[in-house]
Amino acid sequence: MPETAPVNALRSGQWFKLICGASYQHLPTVRNLCFIYAKAGADCIDVAADPSVVRVAREGIEAAGASPWLMVSISNGEDLHFRKAEFDAQWCPPSCSAPCQRVCPTEAITWEGVITDRCYGCGRCLPVCPWGMIRTREQRYDWRDLVDLPIDALEIHTSSDRVAEFAQLWQELSPWLGQLKLVAVSFPDHPHLERNLRALLGVMQPPPPLLLWQTDGRPMSGDIGAGTTHQAIRLGQKVLDMHLPGFVQLAGGTNAATVTYLQDLPISGVAYGSYARALVSDLLDRLPPGAKIEDFPVILEQALTRVAPFVNSLKQRSLQAYVGHSTQTGH
Ligand code: SF4
Ligand code: SF4
Repeated sequence: MPETAPVNALRSGQWFKLICGASYQHLPTVRNLCFIYAKAGADCIDVAADPSVVRVAREGIEAAGASPWLMVSISNGEDLHFRKAEFDAQWCPPSCSAPCQRVCPTEAITWEGVITDRCYGCGRCLPVCPWGMIRTREQRYDWRDLVDLPIDALEIHTSSDRVAEFAQLWQELSPWLGQLKLVAVSFPDHPHLERNLRALLGVMQPPPPLLLWQTDGRPMSGDIGAGTTHQAIRLGQKVLDMHLPGFVQLAGGTNAATVTYLQDLPISGVAYGSYARALVSDLLDRLPPGAKIEDFPVILEQALTRVAPFVNSLKQRSLQAYVGHSTQTGH
């Protein structure tokens, strides 16, 4: 594979991935997030495996005149990232002060219920409803709808006890895998993590051109507070210590504090989700419905003023960590 900016970023420990949300389908926001983060120098943008989302993401990237890789996320089983909240608002007591609306990071909840495309399944609304009204449903996609779309990379969410399901999915995906530049495997911690990741390595034959392990520390929590990053860093360190072939990238609880805590951790990069989106959400909310952010240069400039230093903080991290870590170079 020729060296491109994303490949170089992986090899130098400066890979920045924006996560738009595996279940997030609000098309104008996805499109404008892609524009902003592509413009600011992101190496990869990860979106829901929904053809409409992929199309607007690609449009945003191309409008920005940049070339980060476009990734889609799928799952081989039940997963927090692949769900939507729902409730029947007609049964809500009129006296309820709607704490669900206050905790929702994407303003997905109104007095009429959940705006489905804005919900990314974070689950924060579930415990705050005094009447236990809110439930979740699975949100799954069919990767076969995506094979003709301009997608560079695929992420498979799994958990350590789903090796057989992973093997079956890998076999089904085989006609598509040859078209992709990179495959990421995303997983939370598990007592038998190393044994199971090695089993996945055995399954991924032939290996993808580039393999990335996404260590999902504390899922969908980076906007809650700086401390959420510790779990992501601990899991990243644990996986680095396994010396698996492939790149290691942090996710789950990552935010502006992450780079500070990375120190010499020889990870290949960091994926940012809820924090990265929250960084500009108030600006995107100021746009008229369906507007393209580049048509509002003052708002765009404000967005880039926030996002560019955030992206650059990873891009400028010391490369000392990479000296002597030539094993972390993928296949
Ligand atoms: S709080 Fe999270 S799960 Fe609940 S509606 Fe909002 S985005 Fe969806
Ligand atoms: S907190 Fe529960 S009862 Fe109150 S508005 Fe939200 S869903 Fe309805």
